[in-house]
Amino acid sequence: MPITFNYTPEYFKDIQEALNASGALSKPCHRCGGQEFGILPDFYELKSQGELNIFSNDLKAGIPFAVVFCAKCGFLNLHSIGILESKTLNKKG
Ligand SMILES: [Zn+2]
Repeated sequence: MPITFNYTPEYFKDIQEALNASGALSKPCHRCGGQEFGILPDFYELKSQGELNIFSNDLKAGIPFAVVFCAKCGFLNLHSIGILESKTLNKKG
């Protein structure tokens, strides 16, 4: 079971920008072709016993993820926040 966390408004904006920069909110849904997406208002974390350094700088923290949903078919896409941060958020300086 994932653990649920609240975004701060600023962090939600950062994640939204990172998802935008990655194309996660602009490319058609791979299930139905829908083009309208939303981001769930919370983020989550999966616990893991494995090596997590791909997903997070904190090896003990698990895998935090944001959830993007397709407004047409409801398909849920999970996006590693660690990878989003390593690709985009850290580059903001
Ligand atoms: Zn869809």
